[in-house]
Amino acid sequence: MPSSLLLALYLGIAAAPVALAWISDLPPRPFLDDLSSGLAMTAYAVMLMEFLLSGRFRFVSSKIGIDQTMRFHQLFARTLLVFVLIHPFIYTLPIIANPPPWDLAATGFLKLTNIGILTGIAGWLLLGALVLTAMARDALSYSYETWRLSHGLGAILVAALVAIHTFDSGRYSGTGPLTIYWTGLLGIAAVSMLYVYLVSPLLKLLSPFEVISVRQIAERTWELTIARRDRRPIRFKAGQFFWLGITRHPFTLRENPFSIASAPANNRQVQFVIKELGDFTRSISRISPGQRAWVDGPHGGLSLPEPDAPGVGLIAGGVGIAPLLSVLREMRARGDERPVILLYGNRREDQIVYREELENLAATSDLNVTHLLGEPPDGWSGATGLVDAQVIGDIFGQRKGSQGWTYLLCGPPAMLNAAEAGLMAHGVPASQIVSERFVYD
Ligand SMILES: Cc1cc2nc3c(=O)[nH]c(=O)nc-3n(C[C@H](O)[C@H](O)[C@H](O)COP(=O)(O)OP(=O)(O)OC[C@H]3O[C@@H](n4cnc5c(N)ncnc54)[C@H](O)[C@@H]3O)c2cc1C
Repeated sequence: MPSSLLLALYLGIAAAPVALAWISDLPPRPFLDDLSSGLAMTAYAVMLMEFLLSGRFRFVSSKIGIDQTMRFHQLFARTLLVFVLIHPFIYTLPIIANPPPWDLAATGFLKLTNIGILTGIAGWLLLGALVLTAMARDALSYSYETWRLSHGLGAILVAALVAIHTFDSGRYSGTGPLTIYWTGLLGIAAVSMLYVYLVSPLLKLLSPFEVISVRQIAERTWELTIARRDRRPIRFKAGQFFWLGITRHPFTLRENPFSIASAPANNRQVQFVIKELGDFTRSISRISPGQRAWVDGPHGGLSLPEPDAPGVGLIAGGVGIAPLLSVLREMRARGDERPVILLYGNRREDQIVYREELENLAATSDLNVTHLLGEPPDGWSGATGLVDAQVIGDIFGQRKGSQGWTYLLCGPPAMLNAAEAGLMAHGVPASQIVSERFVYD
């Protein structure tokens, strides 16, 4: 789905409850009271759509990338938290549990039962805890999987508490169109959760993978190869990634995203380049051939540039080389003769992977590779330092017409920010730069 249509759909769904309340035939209340209800309804609509945004659905993330999708998920969560925090404090009308018979439209009071108050307070507190623990995730000591489980269960609980609060106490939500709207949105959220945690693992059972090989290729960096157990071809585009789980069954939270480093031309296997970081990646050395593997995907919008791009610029930082290797390998497998310049940054020389293969490709095609080292060894004659506008200008500026090329970037966020700024300073339009960050924050 085009990203503009997706955005229009999103805004339409988020604005719908206020629009439906506006056209209801209920008489108006003081401005602050209606503002408070509007903020709460918009926040709840946004919250229910968060289930869809975080559900790894390709129709949502394929155009803007999973990293941008998750960034929107975080941004919307923080915005809705502000709306919800304000919500109870700006009401001006008094609270009454049983409406008097002469004011059934509740224009002069807030109708709140004990259940409505309790679910409202519990949902309000839990939502705050959910967003704040997500923002402070790196500082908390529990594992990513524990955080993911508690975040998912917490979100379901908040959605349920707020549903009770909304139907019990919402002045507008009891009206016909809004009841249908909330029921539909709750249904979408429930189906998203069911799909992610039940349907998707069940589908994986039909298509088990196994580990073919594991080998260390650089300091704390491993090459892992998997294939379908029945050796059927694996469909993906160069530059995409899979969520990979190496567990006995697919009903697990232990799955991590890894870019595919091999080319679709060699589609009986997929190869990953994995850098040790935390629990799972540090256990790669203990994985053996024959172990079961499960994949979710392919995902991701970083892919081989369209044929009308006259050349390709690749900028990789560390293990960010993985998806760019896939693109390079696919171009060569297809006999794509467009010129390519690869800027490959690492801290140290022993962190460079597939150096020989890159040299062979450079010797046999129009590929120019520049290794950039942050901590070069004595006698290093290549480029040194960090990626900045100067480095970008030196490497890409010397090639005539490189402003019209397509650029694929993958690496640490700070490096990508510098590379994007450098490319734009060099005259490359933002629309020709595609970046993928391996972290969401
Ligand atoms: C689109 C994408 C592609 C990636 N490709 C590669 C690659 O080719 N090679 C490579 O070495 N690394 C890649 N990564 C990073 C890799 O996913 C993490 O390093 C890995 O998940 C860490 O897991 P861990 O259990 O070792 O560490 P943990 O200590 O569990 O996690 C460390 C950090 O990794 C991230 N992370 C962990 N699990 C997940 C998860 N299930 N979903 C999202 N983020 C998670 C979180 O930010 C977490 O704080 C990629 C990340 C993304 C988002």
